[in-house]
Amino acid sequence: MKIRVGHLYPDYLNIYADRGNIAVLANRAGWRGIDFEVRSIGIGDPVRPADVDLIYVGGGQDREQALIAPDLTAKGEALREAVAGGVAMLAVCGGYQLLGRFYRDRYGSELPGAGVLPLHTVAGERRMIGDVLLECELEPGDRRTLAGFENHAGRTILDEGATPLGRVLAGFGNDGTSGHEGCRLGRAIGTYLHGPLLPRNPWLADWILAQAAAHATGGDPPVLEPLDDSLESEAHAVSSARARSRGGRL
Ligand code: GLN
Repeated sequence: MKIRVGHLYPDYLNIYADRGNIAVLANRAGWRGIDFEVRSIGIGDPVRPADVDLIYVGGGQDREQALIAPDLTAKGEALREAVAGGVAMLAVCGGYQLLGRFYRDRYGSELPGAGVLPLHTVAGERRMIGDVLLECELEPGDRRTLAGFENHAGRTILDEGATPLGRVLAGFGNDGTSGHEGCRLGRAIGTYLHGPLLPRNPWLADWILAQAAAHATGGDPPVLEPLDDSLESEAHAVSSARARSRGGRL
């Protein structure tokens, strides 16, 4: 089996080692004998929904977001078609914000978004920085915790009826008040969690791989062979404890 990945703007949107998420997915696929082919999709490059099983985009400062926003907006229709067609997606922080309708920075200037996720973002004065811990239930009855690090000025507002990625146990999350973090739309996930996210949350890496594999085969998400995640579990425990002890303090 082969999973084809489209990595949006790797040269612009890659802070807090977000690129590390691709390395985790590639290794965990490889350890199960799954081919994992990554293609960069930059400014001016087309998005062909039929050519990808997974789309990834990292985070970035306002400056980098402004450099790619017009191009990302032009890719909006293809990205919406991809997600509607079952392509998996992981979008982090600045990338997550620009997959919504718009990101308005703290000076009031508005960056158009791709209109893929049901949300918009408005920057506040104070940045929301620190360790975060969420409770997620991506599969009914299967509750898991997600640990990471956040640093954003943006306050993301989900549309009425939209599904958050998780409930905030410690940290700020989307806006510091709703108690929610991230957004989920089918196989597409948006989140503020950096770190990178996936090394300390292998269950989410496997969930994303299984969703992408389902798109690649046209079947159901496969149950992937378990791996020895003892190191990852330790990293998760350390990150969770840090979030509980100091997350979410302005
Ligand atoms: N520039 C955006 C903000 O400040 C996103 C930051 C990020 O990707 N960490 O909210």
